[in-house]
Amino acid sequence: MEIKGFIETSLIDWDGRLAAVLFLPGCNFRCPMCHNHQLVQHPEEVPTVDWGTVEAALARHRGWIDGVVVTGGEPTIHAELATLLRWIKQLGLAVKLDTNGALPDVLGHLIGDRLVDYVAMDIKAPLDERYARAAGAKADLGAIRRSIALLMASGVGYEFRTTVLPLYMRKADVGSIGREIKGAGLWALQQYLPGHADAETARRLWPYRDEILLAMREEGAAFVERCVVRGIETVAEGGAA
Ligand code: SF4
Repeated sequence: MEIKGFIETSLIDWDGRLAAVLFLPGCNFRCPMCHNHQLVQHPEEVPTVDWGTVEAALARHRGWIDGVVVTGGEPTIHAELATLLRWIKQLGLAVKLDTNGALPDVLGHLIGDRLVDYVAMDIKAPLDERYARAAGAKADLGAIRRSIALLMASGVGYEFRTTVLPLYMRKADVGSIGREIKGAGLWALQQYLPGHADAETARRLWPYRDEILLAMREEGAAFVERCVVRGIETVAEGGAA
């Protein structure tokens, strides 16, 4: 499996942890707001990272990084993902997996084999006809719901995260997603940054004002233990009583 990006140390990709980050190519979605569209649609144009570089850096940083974030693209489309994660775990490093949740069977095997310590799963829109538009592809809502249920019952650390794109999510929709993940530990509402979006239409969209995201967080906090807003200046956090 080719590695298409590597950050040796990052403080922003796994809350509270210092981690390396590996980027894998390709994805089964085509989200208009995707910031990694070249990696998703034209991975052959992205230079492959020399495996020796990854090995040497992880060996060098062992003992002071906490783990490795495996992201993409969509890591779960790769048949060799389990082998990669097993190798990372054998180095004594924890694994965070970023996923769109479209392949619950793969996710289930990774959890069952104890190859992930933390999973961040996207919830792209309310689970109705808008989901396929937000994903830019046919979206199996049953599969998304199975991944949600799997994570909530898994015992591994997890979060759900929603990039709040005005086109697909209004304030009135917070409850719709909230009910799908009711009782979850953490739901992160992420500010939409149009600058690097894939689709022209998405690049032309204005993000919501911070106050609207904060109001959404207030509503979201009724459904989960912690609801946070990321990507705005104000620290925004709250949860169900
Ligand atoms: S699921 Fe993620 S990587 Fe795939 S197209 Fe959507 S935003 Fe990009």
